[in-house]
Amino acid sequence: MSIMLPDLSRPPLTLLTEEEQMFRDTVRQFAAEHVAPLVAPMDQAAHMEPDLVRQLFELGVMGIEVPDAMGGAGSSFFTAVLVVEELSRVDPSVAVLVDVQNTLVNNCMLRFGGAELKQRFLPRLCTDTVGAYALSEAGSGSDAFALQTRAVESGDEWVLDGRKLWITNGAEAGLFIIFANAAPEQGYRGITAFVVERDTPGFTVGKKEDKLGIRASSTVELIMDQCRVPAANVLGEVGRGYKIAIETLNEGRIGIGAQMLGLAQGALDHTVRYVQEREQFGRRIGDFQGVQFQLAQMRVEVEATRLLVYNAARLKDAGEPFLEEAAIAKLFSSQAAQRIASLAIDLFGGYGFTREYPVEKLYRDSKIGTIYEGTSNMQLQTIAKYMMR
Ligand SMILES: Cc1cc2nc3c(=O)[nH]c(=O)nc-3n(C[C@H](O)[C@H](O)[C@H](O)COP(=O)(O)OP(=O)(O)OC[C@H]3O[C@@H](n4cnc5c(N)ncnc54)[C@H](O)[C@@H]3O)c2cc1C
Repeated sequence: MSIMLPDLSRPPLTLLTEEEQMFRDTVRQFAAEHVAPLVAPMDQAAHMEPDLVRQLFELGVMGIEVPDAMGGAGSSFFTAVLVVEELSRVDPSVAVLVDVQNTLVNNCMLRFGGAELKQRFLPRLCTDTVGAYALSEAGSGSDAFALQTRAVESGDEWVLDGRKLWITNGAEAGLFIIFANAAPEQGYRGITAFVVERDTPGFTVGKKEDKLGIRASSTVELIMDQCRVPAANVLGEVGRGYKIAIETLNEGRIGIGAQMLGLAQGALDHTVRYVQEREQFGRRIGDFQGVQFQLAQMRVEVEATRLLVYNAARLKDAGEPFLEEAAIAKLFSSQAAQRIASLAIDLFGGYGFTREYPVEKLYRDSKIGTIYEGTSNMQLQTIAKYMMR
């Protein structure tokens, strides 16, 4: 009788390679030992501990897809997604710092930067420099290409004028990818991406937002007032910034899916532990079938989220079309994370409503998933567009 061996040329989505497992386990341990003790104080102070950021560089998670030769880990997009998921289980604020670095900033550089830009900036991004990605403005969010920041060529420099709003990592960042319009008469075809260093004359980091959730993650305003950027710092081609923005955000939103996945898993983990300790009516509340069914429902939603996020990430790594899958993963993961974090609070009862237990924070953090890197309506628009083709 012949034995049927599984066809591992198409492995199941959730089966991890040795390298993926190694990353996941290392980050899981790091998050438990080094992130967990800081979660509540950093949330309360709305502050990211600088030493934790230094440790993230040491851990090797700030340049996951960057080749070894430039100081990165030379790994895959899927690995970046796994790292974001693991960090988010413990703190979605720390996770988004790593997410923006990998899926937006490094990604932009790797895909669109010339050899000279890559050599100048990628080694720093892997070792000690946090990056930020600045597209949004006060008047242009969903309608991102209506941005008003202008770039005017002046000799071998570009002069940037305008303001960016909502920029994640802005307080910590040493390097910013800034989108500005170099030819407004050409509409979105004038949008150009620039690499701007923090100490560039005319560049200022403005006020920091006081937020509902992911409070330790900085969200800032950026001000460019006659900010002079060397022509060599144009990322990609002049007038092709819209393409860079679309393509990086298409990928980046899978990272946000991973953030919401980790958050949901974290909320479920806390809840499973709690219901096995808390007693009412002389029994552990987890012994009640009604509670078990609620936990099972949460588990199903986490699993569905994981499959959607992993599938989108693996499609991207395989060079297959993934835009619709990425939009579905981002939409569903952010909705599921809100439902799961909300149910977690219900199952913690009154304690869940306090800052003494971690689910209250995860509930607040879950709200951001439906807003950044394309609101839920924008994801629905993308999904509908594919259906109507
Ligand atoms: C914490 C945080 C961090 C962020 N980090 C970054 C960052 O690092 N870099 C960056 O560039 N940006 C960042 N953003 C900005 C974020 O991407 C935008 O907030 C988001 O794209 C939504 O834009 P908006 O806030 O202007 O909302 P709006 O675009 O004004 O949307 C308001 C509402 O109108 C709906 N809406 C708008 N247009 C339509 C339409 N055509 N059809 C149906 N509904 C519509 C939206 O879905 C939403 O519900 C961040 C935002 C936050 C809150």
